[in-house]
Amino acid sequence: MLVLKEAEQTNKREAESYVNELFQTVVNRNPHEYEFHQAVKEVFNSLIPVLANKPEYIKHAILERIVEPDRMISFRIPWQDDTGRIRVNRGFRVQFNNAIGPYKGGLRFHPSVNASIVKFLGFEQIFKNALTGQSIGGGKGGSDFDPKGKSDFEIMRFCQSFMTELCKHIGPNTDVPAGDIGVGAREIGYLFGQYKKLSGAYEAGVLTGKGIGYGGSLARTEATGYGTVYFVDQMLKSAGYTFHGSTVVVSGSGNVSIYAMEKAIQLGAKVIACSDSSGYLYDEQGINLATIKRLKEVENRRCSDYTLEHPGAVYAEGCSGIWSIPCDIALPCATQNEMDKEAAECLLRNGVRAVGEGANMPCTLEAIDVFLDNQVLFAPAKAANAGGVSVSALEMAQNSARQAWTMEEVDARLQVIMGKIYEESIRASELYGRPGNLVVGANIAGFIKVADAMIAQGI
Ligand code: GLU
Repeated sequence: MLVLKEAEQTNKREAESYVNELFQTVVNRNPHEYEFHQAVKEVFNSLIPVLANKPEYIKHAILERIVEPDRMISFRIPWQDDTGRIRVNRGFRVQFNNAIGPYKGGLRFHPSVNASIVKFLGFEQIFKNALTGQSIGGGKGGSDFDPKGKSDFEIMRFCQSFMTELCKHIGPNTDVPAGDIGVGAREIGYLFGQYKKLSGAYEAGVLTGKGIGYGGSLARTEATGYGTVYFVDQMLKSAGYTFHGSTVVVSGSGNVSIYAMEKAIQLGAKVIACSDSSGYLYDEQGINLATIKRLKEVENRRCSDYTLEHPGAVYAEGCSGIWSIPCDIALPCATQNEMDKEAAECLLRNGVRAVGEGANMPCTLEAIDVFLDNQVLFAPAKAANAGGVSVSALEMAQNSARQAWTMEEVDARLQVIMGKIYEESIRASELYGRPGNLVVGANIAGFIKVADAMIAQGI
């Protein structure tokens, strides 16, 4: 027994030094890509017990292979603005891993987009997509184009130029993009129109997040936000809590945030705060979601305008202050690294019970440690926000079958998928000696599916 224990310790030490050395190689080989390093570090740290237990993964160089994208495409996007001036942006598509299915992942249009952002998102997408239980590989893309303040025609011309290059690399069985920050139904419509024109065929399954009238799936818009709340609800129940009667803070006011708020309210919670890139709103009475939906989805206005209609609410400049509002449940649904160590400590002091990541990598590694070290229930993005891409895969299935399912049918499937992701993540956390740690559990459960497929398919 003692000998066995010693052998286990040696394996663990070896796995640890292997992972540390490899992480250093990733840093050296991808200089200045800090977000990518962060995403890799989190996964690598989670995998130590798996590597210690199954040295085949080391022998087959799975980690060395998984951190290197199959290909990274970078391209020029020239387009003309409304004054006739020619503008140039940079476009990206990273096709990270297709061991279990065609590359799948969104497109982000935001000035912050660069190789590091696209690679961190694409890397996380590998494991998230595997967790959904559907056959989709990992990819991501986007551009540093800023949609803010652009006219409809400018958006259309930009999307057409973007797709003129991207179309060479995608297809319903190759790579299937969708939306992300700055890319919603309008952009997907323009992208699809251009793809159709260039390919000369109606290949509905080449993009997901399409309009309902031309191959989109019901519940896709709601899926990421709803899915996050379904996942957090399971996590809360396991500890004897519920959304009912809880106060909730949800950062952001985009697609993920709005539908996380909607589902939390439906489950009996009071959502007291949300935000946009300028500042945050606090409404002690509970955020009026109809007002936020109209301001954001219809009128394209700022959160600050909410106080014109609800004078009891308070608006404050700056985004990070939202985490100083006392709440039972915090759902960061805006963007990467929006919650740092200080914000996490502040939430902890104010008695937060659970945190669920609706955005991709919204918590820094240090913030996650604060929650895990202090028994705050923590739902990591790869698991908690997998609802969006899950329904994208259901959209692909409907397109292939030339069917359109009802809202109830898609929503029911989404709930089942989120439940399974929760169970699998918990099971993996228990199996590998970190019971209840969903960060470790989700990373391991996603990794094993991809790694085993990679081994089966050879080098
Ligand atoms: N951008 C979303 C995500 O981060 C959805 C991707 C998709 O539907 O393909 O998972």
